[in-house]
Amino acid sequence: MISSLHRPTKAIIDLKAISKNIQTVANHLPDQVKVWAVVKANAYGHGAVAVAHQVESQVDGFCVSNVDEAIELRQARVKKPILVLGVVLPEEVYLAKDYGLTLTIASLEWLHLAKQLGTNLSGITCHIKIDSGMGRIGVRKQTDAETLIAELKEQGVFVEGIFTHFATADEADQRQFEQQLDFFNNLVTSLDHCPPVVHASNSATSIWHADTVFNAVRLGLVIYGLNPSGRTLEMPYHIEPALRLESALVQVKEVPAGTAVGYGGTYHSEQIEWIGTLPIGYADGWTRDMQGFDVLVDGQFCQVVGRVSMDQTTIRLPKEYPLGTKVILIGKSGNQSISATDVAEKRGTINYEVLCLLSDRVPREY
Ligand SMILES: *Cc1c(COP(=O)(O)O)cnc(C)c1O
Repeated sequence: MISSLHRPTKAIIDLKAISKNIQTVANHLPDQVKVWAVVKANAYGHGAVAVAHQVESQVDGFCVSNVDEAIELRQARVKKPILVLGVVLPEEVYLAKDYGLTLTIASLEWLHLAKQLGTNLSGITCHIKIDSGMGRIGVRKQTDAETLIAELKEQGVFVEGIFTHFATADEADQRQFEQQLDFFNNLVTSLDHCPPVVHASNSATSIWHADTVFNAVRLGLVIYGLNPSGRTLEMPYHIEPALRLESALVQVKEVPAGTAVGYGGTYHSEQIEWIGTLPIGYADGWTRDMQGFDVLVDGQFCQVVGRVSMDQTTIRLPKEYPLGTKVILIGKSGNQSISATDVAEKRGTINYEVLCLLSDRVPREY
């Protein structure tokens, strides 16, 4: 989708805040731990290339979810290692060689398919993924991991790393986390030839289990300044949200009591009211369930009234405001603020999804 530059709706990204957040987290990790910035899904909506350029000198590498995201970074002249976290089918392995990417290899079956297809794996660098209890991708048995590593080496693959992913590092109940950690620890320590880079920590693990990092971390949400647990666990230190979402009033009108607003006529003004319209809607990722939520105008909360349309949202203003008045949807205005976590709570989802759903139509300004 082309981004809509000629309307007052935009996401403003504070790249310095991202750098600072990385530094803050790294300061709380043991020395010598490698730090990778996770910039999948367009850096959680912040712009993968801009974020990668900003932080490349600070980090040891990047993680993305698929080959196309990695190629985008290489085409933008990002030089540091890039680990593709998802499964890349053997047919696409040549791209890893062309672009110098590190692949995740997550099953013996994958290797057998590659052999069957005659895929040339020689010269590839990979990390082995262990499923320690997430139930998603990864090898579940120590013996399979051992076989996979040996067979990959035979094929001329450099097995640089081995890693796992926790399902509950952001939760108060530690039981599943401990089980996964034990499983991974036992597996790794019993390997005849353990790859040099061992990693298990996403943001939540890096924040609340800083003692259990192996020798690298994969930092996603926290570098963008949000708490990966929402409000379940408290951040042990301050991080700064890097994204602000703003728009502006493009129409302001006074309506008499009983005026219907929006599709379906779901809202009727109770008295004489000022209704403002913003050029943002669900096609921008400002979803329909934002009806009844608030935005900030002039440091005051103003309710979203009527349905959110594809391209427009209507709000109730306390008084008349001039056209062009700034409206904050995520961020600070005066003494008030609305966070992506607040938006997520209203939607019954997580702050990750709120950021990722901001569509390409919203220009990112740095
Ligand atoms: C997305 C992802 C991360 C980063 O997760 P955050 O919670 O955003 O830090 C780390 N590892 C894997 C395998 C992931 O898919």
